[in-house]
Amino acid sequence: MIEENQPSVLIMIFGATGDLAKRKLFPSIYRLFQKEKINKFAVVGVARRELSNDEFQANVKESILTFTKEQENVDEFASHFYYHSHDVSSSESYIQLKDIADRLDSHYQLEGNRVFYLAMAPEFFGTIAEQVKEQGLTDTNGYKRLVIEKPFGHSFESALELNKRIRTAFEEDEVYRIDHYLGKEMVQNIEVIRFANALFEPLWNSRYISNIQVTSSETLGVEERGRYYETSGALRDMVQNHMLQMVALLAMEPPIRLTTEEIRSEKVRALRSLRPMTKEEVNQYFVRGQYGAGTVNQENVPEYRTEHNVDPESNTETFVAGKLMIDNFRWAGVPFYIRTGKRMDIKSTKIVVQFKDIPMNLYYNTEETLQPNLLVIHIQPEEGITLLLNAKKTGGDVKSTPVQLSYSNKSTDQLNTPEAYEKLLFASMRGDATNFTHWDEVALSWKFVDSISEVWENTKESSFPNYEAGTSGPRPADELLESDGHFWWPVENLDLEN
Ligand code: NAD
Repeated sequence: MIEENQPSVLIMIFGATGDLAKRKLFPSIYRLFQKEKINKFAVVGVARRELSNDEFQANVKESILTFTKEQENVDEFASHFYYHSHDVSSSESYIQLKDIADRLDSHYQLEGNRVFYLAMAPEFFGTIAEQVKEQGLTDTNGYKRLVIEKPFGHSFESALELNKRIRTAFEEDEVYRIDHYLGKEMVQNIEVIRFANALFEPLWNSRYISNIQVTSSETLGVEERGRYYETSGALRDMVQNHMLQMVALLAMEPPIRLTTEEIRSEKVRALRSLRPMTKEEVNQYFVRGQYGAGTVNQENVPEYRTEHNVDPESNTETFVAGKLMIDNFRWAGVPFYIRTGKRMDIKSTKIVVQFKDIPMNLYYNTEETLQPNLLVIHIQPEEGITLLLNAKKTGGDVKSTPVQLSYSNKSTDQLNTPEAYEKLLFASMRGDATNFTHWDEVALSWKFVDSISEVWENTKESSFPNYEAGTSGPRPADELLESDGHFWWPVENLDLEN
């Protein structure tokens, strides 16, 4: 049941001195506080470092002053924050934490509601879940919820193992697995665009759609995350979670109701319909890339293999492109192309839905051939929708020309658009699990991704590095579409500003 009232809650952030807490979590809680969405709350920051409450509150204030535009009531806000210096594997430390939690619970009248937010390296997730149960932190009169960051496992087997450990302490409906893409305004908008428009839903199938392209490109390289990224790669870091979640939202059947369970069960069905690949088919349907040196935003950048904590002969992919087939009535024969990579030419996440050509082109005599209709969903950094149509070219001749109808979120609501983390944190406090990933989705996504990584890990890619930093990826990613008679719509030309 989703609670409608202002939630009362104690949030325990494990990893409270980390980057995620500083950049995203403190500012998000602050915005909820400023908007009066929460007022009865306290936060216990838990991390290894020795800090006093005062020092921790100073860190929180600094984070607010750095990462938010509004800066009112910061002292009052920070006074809700407490700190516990913690060793993840020490039972004694959890006993002390329980004592703090119980005291804050009665001081702030939090009704025993507890959110355990794990903003730490995933190897600790299982231990923390078990310990909070064993030391009685989950024995409470209110709700207990576990919010957990990615990555959730490294493969299906390891995810299953982790899930078993977590489930000793929390029920599935108490586990909120974060996929921050699901908190993004325009990702949430995919369903509304589809299911609230008579214009789209009737066309949303293999009769009218030629192909769907999902691109998520970054200009950044691996930065300081080399150690983690070497064991992950773009496939596990991006495809298993964010890319497949977007595909599921695009491909799912309309839910009969907008409840968490109904939406989830349709997403699960879409993921179950993904066509499995044999080992031989993997390299036919999927392309991997690794960046070489190049120029990004007029700056020379090094190749992946010379980045910090990266093996000079690394076989890790920093780019993935793939063709997914969804074997059901709606999508038979329609390819879903996905691509994601680091050190690409632009930072952009976009979905392009390409409609089929009309049966006959009456305007053949124009200089350009008729462009297919496109629906572009701009996820980030721009947020909006573009519809590309053909209309009459102004002038005496009856010629057609492509026109663009655009809607940008920025122009209407930019200041009020809540950040993904803010929305997700608030949803976890209210018990709304719609935009979190259920175990069934995690399991299906891992099984699909495992079938690719098993092949890639066992064959060294001799062409690496195979794309220059600052470009749109390796050539075989283009060939993947060309062999189907398609091409990647150049996302830079589809920007809302164009
Ligand atoms: P980080 O390395 O900056 O912080 C790690 C935190 O864990 C620190 O507070 C540290 O004190 C604590 N810690 C480490 N070992 C400990 C131990 N033995 N006992 C107690 N505390 C210990 O990491 P981060 O960037 O904040 O990321 C945390 C998690 O969030 C990771 O799972 C990461 O994959 C995920 N994540 C981060 C981001 C991001 O923007 N930083 C985005 C998405 C997901």
